[in-house]
Amino acid sequence: MTSVVLDNVTKQYADAAPSVAGIDLHIKDGEFFTLLGPSGCGKSTTLRMVAGFVVPTSGTLRFGERDVTTVPPYKRDTGMVFQNYALFPHMDVATNVAFGLRMRKTSKSERGQRVAEALDVVGLTGYGERRIDQLSGGQQQRVALARALVINPSVLLLDEPLSNLDAKLREETRAHIRSIQQASATTSLYVTHDQAEAMAMSDRIAVMSAGHLHQVGTPREVYRRPATSFVARFIGRSNVLAGTLLGRDERTHTVRLSNGELLTVPNTENSPTAHIGVEEDIAVSIRPEDLRVVSTGSTDAGTLRGRVSAVEYTGASCTVTLNYGETQLLATVPDGPDIPAVDELVSVQPAVDRLWSVAP
Ligand code: ADP
Ligand code: MG
Repeated sequence: MTSVVLDNVTKQYADAAPSVAGIDLHIKDGEFFTLLGPSGCGKSTTLRMVAGFVVPTSGTLRFGERDVTTVPPYKRDTGMVFQNYALFPHMDVATNVAFGLRMRKTSKSERGQRVAEALDVVGLTGYGERRIDQLSGGQQQRVALARALVINPSVLLLDEPLSNLDAKLREETRAHIRSIQQASATTSLYVTHDQAEAMAMSDRIAVMSAGHLHQVGTPREVYRRPATSFVARFIGRSNVLAGTLLGRDERTHTVRLSNGELLTVPNTENSPTAHIGVEEDIAVSIRPEDLRVVSTGSTDAGTLRGRVSAVEYTGASCTVTLNYGETQLLATVPDGPDIPAVDELVSVQPAVDRLWSVAP
């Protein structure tokens, strides 16, 4: 077990824009840490640099105190799990799981015992003699996990390991991976483009876009206090309204939205918009569940008025879409008699303490 530190790490291929552009990460010992972002943002490249398959163009990488920037993969003591399992299909489960132990020349008797333990951990006791192509996708992914865990890696690396599973199995398997990780307290770096998966599994999440790090925080921090409009939109659903900063004091920002409306937004210590100056671009984020439909057509200060373009019924609540100037607003309304109808003109009131200013 160990911490993993990336210090100003960049990877650039040929003349293209950097795949990973100078990122700093400090993954703590025993932490379940997730890289989250859309396809192509540099997640796998980052993970491969930690594994040693890709050498950074610049920057340093440390496991604990040890500088591993140019150490080859087989000397790093990492276990890896991939999206496509990468198992040997014609060999049996036990042979697949034993692979890393054979590479390390572990004795046959110890091998047998450790393979049995690893299969027990992933819930596949008794499957040792099955061939891989006789297993379901979910079982194959658990074999891949057992193969990574059997060597007691100091760092466990998982690259979109659930992407090939159907929705229900994905949820089951993510809970399983999380509980195995907690039991072993292995420092883990997990890669996904699925924000719900990242929120459910992680101690902390790093949100990436186009090779850059937008924010690192707990699931609650990135949801409640997104640093940028990208993070606000990517994590859950959010209304992000573009505007200009008119002024700020210790407690509030005053923001003029692009339609002229003024909003008073709480200011806090460590606000992600502290660097934004007066008359510069800023954005305001508010979650759909923090917008309350107040009345048809109210024009009270601080309310936002628009025409309903869609109502989506999801059971316990409805999601109402309003056309608001050039943009749209989503509001969650509890199921009941107050659900507005399409084409109705309604006003919504933001919960004042839930308005949040973000970098545009
Ligand atoms: P993600 O895993 O977030 O989908 P990747 O890390 O795989 O993204 O890729 C990030 C960017 O780097 C992409 O634009 C991709 O095309 C580019 N890239 C990745 N590997 C290579 C490579 N070996 N050669 C050239 N470009 C690459
Ligand atoms: Mg990838």
